[in-house]
Amino acid sequence: MKEELFNKKVSGWENISEENKEKIFKFSDEYIYFLNKVKTEREAVCFAKKMLDENGFKDINKLEKLKKGDKVYYVNRDKSMYIAVIGEEKLENGLNIVGAHIDSPRLDLKPNPLYEDTGFAYLKTHYYGGIKKYQWTTIPLAIHGVIVKSNGEKINICIGEEDDEPIFTITDLLPHLAVEQMEKKLKEAINGEDLNVLIGSIPMQDKDQNEKIKLNILTLLNEKYGIKEIDFVSSELEIVPAFKARSLGFDKSMVASYGQDDRVCAYTSIRAILDVVEPKKTAVCILADKEEIGSYGNTGMESHVFDMFISELLNKTGENKPNLLEKVFCNSKMLSADVDAGLDPIYASVSEKNNAARIGYGIGLNKYTGARGKSGASDANAEYVAEVRNIFEKANLPYQVSELGKVDVGGGGTIALILADKGIDVIDCGVPVLSMHAPYEVTSKFDVFCAYKGYSAFMK
Ligand code: MN
Ligand code: MN
Repeated sequence: MKEELFNKKVSGWENISEENKEKIFKFSDEYIYFLNKVKTEREAVCFAKKMLDENGFKDINKLEKLKKGDKVYYVNRDKSMYIAVIGEEKLENGLNIVGAHIDSPRLDLKPNPLYEDTGFAYLKTHYYGGIKKYQWTTIPLAIHGVIVKSNGEKINICIGEEDDEPIFTITDLLPHLAVEQMEKKLKEAINGEDLNVLIGSIPMQDKDQNEKIKLNILTLLNEKYGIKEIDFVSSELEIVPAFKARSLGFDKSMVASYGQDDRVCAYTSIRAILDVVEPKKTAVCILADKEEIGSYGNTGMESHVFDMFISELLNKTGENKPNLLEKVFCNSKMLSADVDAGLDPIYASVSEKNNAARIGYGIGLNKYTGARGKSGASDANAEYVAEVRNIFEKANLPYQVSELGKVDVGGGGTIALILADKGIDVIDCGVPVLSMHAPYEVTSKFDVFCAYKGYSAFMK
């Protein structure tokens, strides 16, 4: 009876065949390769575009007409992206959407970042997204991003990743002199204005100048990139951890890396849409920017660029008529592909055991997010949860339905509510993570593979 009636939750590694394990590890190697190549939203777009180009996808702007089976994408300002495979049925019948985000918490450079103080040159930062500031000191850091000169020339920067390149760091106080700091609350121990990146200490050999270290750095930057100090004002430079994504554990069952929120769901979504061939309904993949800071701005999910993309599908398939876009959305279904908080035994007190996602137990579904009385949640309808369950059960994929933490302990949100606003049926669906938003986040290879298989089954 128990076998029959209980919702039994078991680790995916339990009784796994050698063949499946091999498949999972091979996929994870490819995922780790991606994580090491991609540490910003721009790099994610670049990587995705290359993969799509190699798999027969075309830039939608280059096509006059679309027909079933066509594979297209739209790149929005190099920072977000929408991808579609046109289905047999009319768009009017709705889309199957998987939407992830490709931005991650980090430190952004301020518009005027460079300064010198008492023998050192530094870059000032403003952190991006929800970070625990103390985690960003005393680790190796790399600088990724773009500088755009006033003539429009764009310079790509990526330094701190190769073994022969220098790295950067943010210093912290030695424990010997940290008596006062150690008494502070964790959130106040490191001041946001003290997250200054150490970048140099050799002065320009010119005794008549002041700010000689800053001058030396600017000279080096001018030689290497052709830039002046003013060019920082039109740059987007991101300070990210310089360490590599690696397999974790003696059994290599997990992945440790920066930026798995949410590039784990982004990567698995892209891989999933590559598998979609002539689907019944049009399959759509979203790679959104700015999720970590509220999804605002024209590369965030709140913007109307996504609506424009779907309108273009309607126009180019010749299906469009007045107000059809709203109908398309109301008939559409979506997995909001974002990470979930995995149960961490060391911090088990913030989770409610029966409703926490477990690492290695399969795809995590969050029926709702929000905080304190479900406030701010997009709560998926029971009918829709049943439909998604059915897809996973038919595909023989383990899934777990959970919530982010104990009642009143905290909460969070994703892009789900933005798409739900348009009338789409949405549920959060992704990979459980340990140390979410930290410079080094942990996932299970089993769950990563399940996410890929799950997104693929959903879009097909
Ligand atoms: Mn996320
Ligand atoms: Mn996040």
